[in-house]
Amino acid sequence: MQIECIVLREVALPLRAPFTTSYGTLTERRTIVVEVHDDGGFVGYGEAAPISPPLYTEESVGTAWHILESYLCPLALQGEWESPEALSDALGAVRRNYAAKAGLEAAVWDAYARRAGRPLAAVLGGCRAHVEVGIALGIPPDARTLLSQVERALEAGYRRIKIKVQPGWDVEPVRLLRRHFGAFPLAVDANAAYRLEDADHLRRLDEFSLEMIEQPLDWEDFVDHAALQRRLATPICLDESITSLASARQALALGSCSMINIKAGRVGGLTPARRIHDLCRAHGIPVWCGGLLESGVGRAHSLALSALPNFTLPADLAPPDRYLVHDVIAPPLTFSAPGMIALPEGAGIGVTPSAAALAQYTVRRTELRRPDRLKAARFAPEKKETDASV
Ligand code: MG
Repeated sequence: MQIECIVLREVALPLRAPFTTSYGTLTERRTIVVEVHDDGGFVGYGEAAPISPPLYTEESVGTAWHILESYLCPLALQGEWESPEALSDALGAVRRNYAAKAGLEAAVWDAYARRAGRPLAAVLGGCRAHVEVGIALGIPPDARTLLSQVERALEAGYRRIKIKVQPGWDVEPVRLLRRHFGAFPLAVDANAAYRLEDADHLRRLDEFSLEMIEQPLDWEDFVDHAALQRRLATPICLDESITSLASARQALALGSCSMINIKAGRVGGLTPARRIHDLCRAHGIPVWCGGLLESGVGRAHSLALSALPNFTLPADLAPPDRYLVHDVIAPPLTFSAPGMIALPEGAGIGVTPSAAALAQYTVRRTELRRPDRLKAARFAPEKKETDASV
């Protein structure tokens, strides 16, 4: 497989409401939609979805664009690839920059599966047709808002409610939810807001039978997470800490967590995500797929990944129309039953960006081609999007 052309589009998608975590507040979601054309005439889509400013990881949309345009895309355009895994391994020559790699690698996986005429989930080895979906709720302005948000989420059928916490907003909101709604699958996500010195305080969460506490401590600290897990009955789930297969091996060897949240965009793509899945499966550690407020392109990839057998916990993959004013794909991803999304049945990710939505939300666009095909008429520029106004 050769890649003939890659189109990068930065899209600026308005959020329905601000989303607050211990890192700060997002009001707009900017990501990069990656489109690849292979030598068989197949087109694949991926999404690089780092969060700007770079607080969740070290990447921002600006750095991902630079790394894609200057290094990853030229590398992909120059080679001949037996498989998406071969490309993924080659991208490893560039250090880290996992969201940038994941966007390109995902687009190649999509084109590869479309070429095979099979759904991406099946190509990856997935075993399920539906994915159970949970919801992640940002830190609300007050307790009354939290109660109404959780009430609506439970009515909608979400299979797990995860609330963001930080010092000063942790034990009491959890107590409030248990008092009002009783037993239901509940988790908290601290986004690295605590220190090991807070262990006694965090132990107060043990009485509420939480499904997990996600990423309580610093993202680089596997040793302290292991020490904290020994003191907590609540399972620790690692998110930000797991950036590669090697980091997952460290976490399992040290006992730093009891489960892992796998996001392809945080670990460099579907290939390393599947390897981490396989490692966890061999160790009896369950995994689930987290979300990054991405568009339907990235979400469709996450759904395909979530079809693998050890993704046994609900995914944070709510339909994008919950948080985006408009998605870029058509038709949109929706619930097939309360709290469930059916995997699209078409080839590849089974969804395609709408040209009109891309034209409306693209704020930056570039196109890179194989060096020896610079004048190929087959990939004529789309005039609408090369207009200086976008
Ligand atoms: Mg998280």
